[in-house]
Amino acid sequence: MPRGHGFGRGFRRCRYMSWPYTPWGWRYPLFRRVAKVDREKCIGCGKCAERCPFNAISIEDKKAKVNPYFCKGCGVCTLVCPKGAITLEYVY
Ligand code: SF4
Ligand code: SF4
Repeated sequence: MPRGHGFGRGFRRCRYMSWPYTPWGWRYPLFRRVAKVDREKCIGCGKCAERCPFNAISIEDKKAKVNPYFCKGCGVCTLVCPKGAITLEYVY
């Protein structure tokens, strides 16, 4: 099988690759979002870390920190943050 035809792991894929399916027949996502914390607004209450279904947020130095490899962009943290410190950013 030639390279560039979907043998990346998980959802990693070349941006310019035109074939939209993995070799296993799953559709690659068209876009991906990741949570981003505004450190100035964050008060370190930990509500986002408690509620994240993918365990992607930890509290470091009294600020929330998102692990972009675990974050699935579901948006739960943006809803529970009392300070509105989290937004979803498009990665591609
Ligand atoms: S968007 Fe979803 S997966 Fe990502 S950090 Fe927030 S709650 Fe967790
Ligand atoms: S819920 Fe908001 S204020 Fe609380 S730790 Fe998370 S990002 Fe910071």
